[in-house]
Amino acid sequence: MSRRFTTGRLVIASHNAGKVAEIADLLGPYGADVVSAGDLGLGEPEETGETFVANAELKALAAAQASGLPALADDSGLAVDALDGAPGIYSARWAGPNKDFQRAMRKVYDALAGAANNRARFVCALALAWPDGHCVTVEGVVEGAIVWPPRGSHGFGYDPIFQPTGYLRTFGEMEPHQKHGISHRADAFRKLVETCFR
Ligand code: IMP
Repeated sequence: MSRRFTTGRLVIASHNAGKVAEIADLLGPYGADVVSAGDLGLGEPEETGETFVANAELKALAAAQASGLPALADDSGLAVDALDGAPGIYSARWAGPNKDFQRAMRKVYDALAGAANNRARFVCALALAWPDGHCVTVEGVVEGAIVWPPRGSHGFGYDPIFQPTGYLRTFGEMEPHQKHGISHRADAFRKLVETCFR
């Protein structure tokens, strides 16, 4: 069941300052006074879920319960069809402890060797939870294909090997504003605003 966010404080269940600032820009116009879980000294729960939605939900619920305020969390990653959705919720972990995405992209390429189908999508789940345990989730998607070799130096993570459907450039070759217009995150935020903030 959906529930509206009324004005007031909103905890972002992330310790990533860049992500928190981006969300403050997106949701500020709807009356959300954004504060980060890091600023409130909240811990980060282990991501034990088996889906993007489950991980976003457990992070949002933990932050809402610990702070007594509504809380928003996200979980995202790359899902490759021929790899049965891998790296999926393990997208960050494929880069190893040094967050080496050259290595993670090579791992995707090697795993795909010989596959006839290079279809993939980026997925972003968003969960908005309240201290009483109510939680609304949405999922955004952008469809595309894995290309090799990696192209472009914009963005982050797997952007240089992801070419969205209908475009000739990879996310790594796009200007940030172009990627942000069509990304899985943009799709998820559009759905969340529609469901809870309008
Ligand atoms: P998180 O949800 O912020 O933990 O991100 C999970 C991982 O998914 C990131 O570390 C990246 O590897 C990957 N990922 C998520 N969104 C993107 C994107 O827009 N471009 C490239 N990689 C992404």
